[in-house]
Amino acid sequence: MTDPNYDVILVGGGHNGLICATYLAKAGKKVLLLEARDALGGGAATSEFSKGFSVSSCAQWLMQLSPEIQKDLALDKFGLTLAAKNLSTIALGEDANHIMIKGDMLDGDSLSVEDKKQYEKFYKQILKFSKVLSGAFSRRPPKLVEGNFTDRITLLKLGIGLKLLGQDDMRDLLRIALINMYDIMEENFDNELLKAALSFDAVLGSHLGPRSPNTVFGFLYRRLGDVYGFKGPAVVTGGMGAVGKALANSAKAVGVTIRTNSKVAKINCDGYRAISVELQDTETIKANIIVSSADPKTTFKQLVGYPNLETGLVRNVHNIRMKGTAAKLHLALKDLPKFTGVAHKDLGNRLIIAPTMDYIERAFNHAKYGEYSSKPALDISLPTVHDKTLAPEGQHVLSAIVQFAPYDLKQGWNEQTKQAFKQLVIDRLEDFAPGIKDLIVESELLTPKDLEQQYNMTGGHWHHGELSLDQIMMTRPFPGATQYGTAIDGLYLCGAGSHPGGGVMGLAGKNAADEIIKRGNKA
Ligand SMILES: Cc1cc2nc3c(=O)[nH]c(=O)nc-3n(C[C@H](O)[C@H](O)[C@H](O)COP(=O)(O)OP(=O)(O)OC[C@H]3O[C@@H](n4cnc5c(N)ncnc54)[C@H](O)[C@@H]3O)c2cc1C
Repeated sequence: MTDPNYDVILVGGGHNGLICATYLAKAGKKVLLLEARDALGGGAATSEFSKGFSVSSCAQWLMQLSPEIQKDLALDKFGLTLAAKNLSTIALGEDANHIMIKGDMLDGDSLSVEDKKQYEKFYKQILKFSKVLSGAFSRRPPKLVEGNFTDRITLLKLGIGLKLLGQDDMRDLLRIALINMYDIMEENFDNELLKAALSFDAVLGSHLGPRSPNTVFGFLYRRLGDVYGFKGPAVVTGGMGAVGKALANSAKAVGVTIRTNSKVAKINCDGYRAISVELQDTETIKANIIVSSADPKTTFKQLVGYPNLETGLVRNVHNIRMKGTAAKLHLALKDLPKFTGVAHKDLGNRLIIAPTMDYIERAFNHAKYGEYSSKPALDISLPTVHDKTLAPEGQHVLSAIVQFAPYDLKQGWNEQTKQAFKQLVIDRLEDFAPGIKDLIVESELLTPKDLEQQYNMTGGHWHHGELSLDQIMMTRPFPGATQYGTAIDGLYLCGAGSHPGGGVMGLAGKNAADEIIKRGNKA
């Protein structure tokens, strides 16, 4: 038994785990962080998928990282640099009549004056709503029943935020938060491509289509980045793995001990008190507090073990919906591809293929029945336009988030089904970028199963659990584990599966650290 008297053991070195560890160490705790992989950052990762070609292999855009955390942890000092920021989104039209979206501005020949004006109004209102949410996201979610003083303050602040919206906006928010993106788009705009581009943002990373209930919440969640000062997605120099590296440097500077290639196999409990962790090689390490940034299913099912939990808790964990539907495509390219109708200078922006809301809905329909989309929607990045370090000179990489690819494919994911889906996605790309096939040196497709296996995230799910109204705020990840503490004394959660959710944002990690620090000796 290794017993160097750690106050806290952090399970998992994704961005949330690293952030939580750093805040705890800054508060004087002796912290050990154990990461299963050989690299830190979790889904914020860079991998060399072909000799000389590297790519952000899971998350590809930095668009939501809390500015408070960036400042507190001095991430620029510790090596985080952006190769490009405030990028536009270009929604690719099948007729090459594209639309460019940047903050509250729209550009494109197919747009009417009315749509442009209405978009400005719409964006302004959405941003107001996201601001109200952001207030509740940067602190622990309140308990509705048995809430203490802190919970009452949070609810009060949320209430004041809503009240300050004014009667009309408040009524609108309460109405749209519960309905679907499809109807909201129909109410506001005429242009099909615009409606589809905004809807795609609402369902990215979720098992939802534009007609699914509470998809507007997904859109508000996505716009948090705008509240945090991102006027569009950013490309990190060296790929998203550089976020993990900067966070690790910051953690080490305040004394966090970090061990990679250290997969935790078990969290040991004495009754209902977590007391130690056991590594795969059977080494046991004790600590007063154990914080898991692994997803809630991994934490409770694999690490604590269902036999050690009460039936009600097991049911809650079992019922968390977290089957990923996003795949990743990576292409090593001999040259920069040409997208029809996109100027060379604009290729470094975010390009999306989602021409109509029905197109996205149909793509989602397949996933409902365990099939991959015959015409998938794509979120495309060409990071080498901005960052030459990722590929040999003059050559490029393309990275794309592909929806929908169900975790549980009916016929199972194997080499054959993966090849077939990859080919279908590349064919779709060829429709918009004729000649791209001839530029491909090597390609890789990661399905949600691959993402689960490579990144240790159950279901390969973007948020470690669907972001829907039954799994957010005071019900995230499930009632009884909503304020980072769990039914097991001394065991806390701090990953994307806890409030407020996923994306490289960092608030789950910071809020969990705040909660542990606040509880002091009672933690
Ligand atoms: C296809 C895809 C594309 C995405 N694109 C974007 C994007 O462009 N922008 C964006 O902001 N977000 C994106 N996301 C979401 C983002 O990647 C996640 O929300 C984020 O990585 C969650 O961070 P985390 O620190 O909570 O967990 P993770 O990043 O999952 O980190 C958890 C860490 O815990 C480790 N771990 C798990 N179990 C153990 C164990 N037993 N022992 C030790 N270590 C363990 C894992 O190895 C991992 O390193 C995307 C997600 C997916 C799936």
